[in-house]
This record gives sequence, C-alpha cells and structure tokens, in this order.
Amino acid sequence: MKPKIVFSDFDGTLTLGESLSPILFDIFDLLKRNNIKLVPVSGRSISWGHFFLTHLPVDTVIMEGGGVIGYHGQKGLIDHEFMIDNQEIGRLEGMAMEVRKEFKGMALTADSIGRITDRAIELSLLEDLGVKGEVEKFMDKHNVNHSCSNVHMNFWCGDISKISAINYYLKKFEDGIKLDECMFFGDSLNDETVFKGMPYTVGVSNISIVLNQLEHKPHVILEGPDNAGPKGVLNYLSNVLK
Ligand SMILES: [Mg+2]
Repeated sequence: MKPKIVFSDFDGTLTLGESLSPILFDIFDLLKRNNIKLVPVSGRSISWGHFFLTHLPVDTVIMEGGGVIGYHGQKGLIDHEFMIDNQEIGRLEGMAMEVRKEFKGMALTADSIGRITDRAIELSLLEDLGVKGEVEKFMDKHNVNHSCSNVHMNFWCGDISKISAINYYLKKFEDGIKLDECMFFGDSLNDETVFKGMPYTVGVSNISIVLNQLEHKPHVILEGPDNAGPKGVLNYLSNVLK
C-alpha cells in the first residue's frame, strides 16, 4: 500500500544508532518524489521539534511522546498545540521537583529544559544509581505515567500517547485522511501505543533488542543489519513505492 502520510519515530528509527546519517535525506528525497509527507513522532522535546521544523523538510512534528504538536502556522511562524491542559502541566512541574528530592543524585536530562508536557531522566543515570525500579514505583504511586525510549525514561501527567496525538493530528490537520491510509516506523518501547492502535506499522530491525518486551508488536518486522534504523525505513519505502 502506498501511504498518504508516513509517521516515524526519530531516535533509532531515522537515526543510525546515535548518528544523523545521509540516509535520512535519501528518505526525504524518496518521499518528496512520491508527494508523501513525513511527520516525526518523537519522545524528544518540543525544542528539538523546533529544530526539525526549521532545518528538515517537515511541516508538522509530534513531540514529547505525543504531548505536543508543532507546526508552521500563520505567516510560516511556528505554532503549538498541547495535548494536555495547564493543570496537568503544573502537576508535572511539581513532580519533577519531588523526584529530585526523593532520590539522591537524581537529575533530569539536559533537554528537560526545553520540555513542556513531559520530563526525562537519562537511562544511563538510572542504571548508575541503580534505582530504575524504585523510580517507576514512585511514579506509579503518584499517578504519574512513564515510558522508556532508547535513551530516556520519560514521565508525564495526563493522557499522552503517540497514537492519540497521531489520531488528533489526522482529525484536526488532515481532514479526510484515515489512520489506515498511513504508515508508521518505530523501534522501541515508546512506540507501542502506535503498534497497538495503527493498522500499518513497521519495526526496523534494531527493534529486536526490545521485541520480547512488547506486548503489541509492529505489523511488519524487518530483519538483519541492512535494515537497521533509517536503512530499514529506506529499503521498505523503496519497495512499497516502486
Ligand atoms: Mg526510537
């Protein structure tokens, strides 16, 4: 099926490991030739979303795990729509302080400065402190949601998910395009709501690391080192679009 819109996770899916590779731009070229837009759906902060909007050929980004949609609004200026209300944004602010009080040595990620609807902790710090399970319990006790990407534990208040933001985006910004006419690429645990809720999803081969932790797996799972990250995205799209 030729998708009308391609949604894609960023880290580990459009990046090769931690590197931006030239393959990303081959993906953009291929999609442009086929008149298909790419919408990044990432756990990174909305500040990163600003970078995507200004430096990559994208007109919309879904960031913070689905907490915020950024887009080029009137006169091309960047605008936002937050998926949770101010009360939940305020409660999160308080919890971000509480978790640092509760756990000695705890710190938020550097990019938490640019976050509005969620915060993050480096997975490497949680491993160094040996408190990942404890922090998860603390979040659960205070009714704070959490999920892990390749690099971060993200936490947030209220109802945020990649799939609910995709559905909202299609309804509000893409009148007439249905979820089952679109495709999603992902590689990690924080993509699971999309694997569950969207009919056409593709896991790049590096998803193998977390595959048995996923209750809901992608519709298509790519295999082998030649299908890791953006290589898998480009190979799969080249096949579908030829
Ligand atoms: Mg990822």
